[in-house]
Amino acid sequence: TLNFYDNTVGEHQRHQQLLMLDLEDAFTSNQIHLAYQPKVSLNSGQTESVEALVRWYHPQFQLIPPGDWIPLVEELGSITRVTRWVLGRAAADLARIRNRYGVGTRVAINISARDLALPELADSLEGIVRHHGGMPQDFILEITETAVIENLELTTERLGQLRRNGFSLALDDFGTGTSSLSALTEFPLDEVKIDRRFLTRILADQNRQKVFRTTVELAQSLSLDTVVEGIEDEQTVQWLRQFTDLKGQGFFWGQPVMLDPDQDETQG
Ligand code: C2E
Ligand code: MG
Ligand code: MG
Repeated sequence: TLNFYDNTVGEHQRHQQLLMLDLEDAFTSNQIHLAYQPKVSLNSGQTESVEALVRWYHPQFQLIPPGDWIPLVEELGSITRVTRWVLGRAAADLARIRNRYGVGTRVAINISARDLALPELADSLEGIVRHHGGMPQDFILEITETAVIENLELTTERLGQLRRNGFSLALDDFGTGTSSLSALTEFPLDEVKIDRRFLTRILADQNRQKVFRTTVELAQSLSLDTVVEGIEDEQTVQWLRQFTDLKGQGFFWGQPVMLDPDQDETQG
């Protein structure tokens, strides 16, 4: 039988092709869902926004992590199909999200650098949000830095359009790419998410603490909302409380969760 992690190269490629053929079905037969994970203010403990993370429950392979199929969709050039679906679902969920996490809660979705190739992206995404009775101001678009910097000029222009239409923009996984610093000044941003790798052994290593502190100071000096990703334990939270105005996201507050599936279709 075909195993998802089959490691012979030909088999792997064939598998990827089959997987992409399954994708269209996946949307129409309810295999794709969103899980939400809060970004929490470390000072107040309040949830300010939640990140929508896509989940594909494949009938044969069960849960396929986004890292295993999103890059394939990007290569195929059809990622905007996913992005539009995710934003539409998130917009449809907004009322229930606010019911659960608090009235002002905003929703973050991940967009791909490939999405930025579309000239009409900003109007298209705004249209989706308005269709569901929402406003772009209710949403944060997270862009991964490594993907973004390939075409600086185009990226900057598209991001500017998104922001003029009212979306907030976050630079995701900050610190993992090569042009981190220039991205911070070139792109019109509202938020920066410090990659979870910065937290590795941070409690035991003073040099790592210095790098982290400087990174936070840099982000805050540019007046960016600063979110620390991948916070897993109480000690790290305690250590991070020395900083003001930091937000955190991670398993410490919980795994990404789906909204109650019973209510999925009742809102119409
Ligand atoms: P990301 O945007 O950086 O999302 C955060 C990832 O870190 C999520 O993995 C989340 O489950 C995981 N995470 C959260 N807290 C912790 C923690 O405390 N420790 C650890 N080790 N991990 C934590 P996930 O859901 O597997 O998503 C992986 C990546 O896939 C995302 O990274 C994002 O780049 C991409 N992705 C997810 N959903 C979408 C989507 O709808 N569209 C696009 N284009 N990409 C998506
Ligand atoms: Mg993200
Ligand atoms: Mg991230």
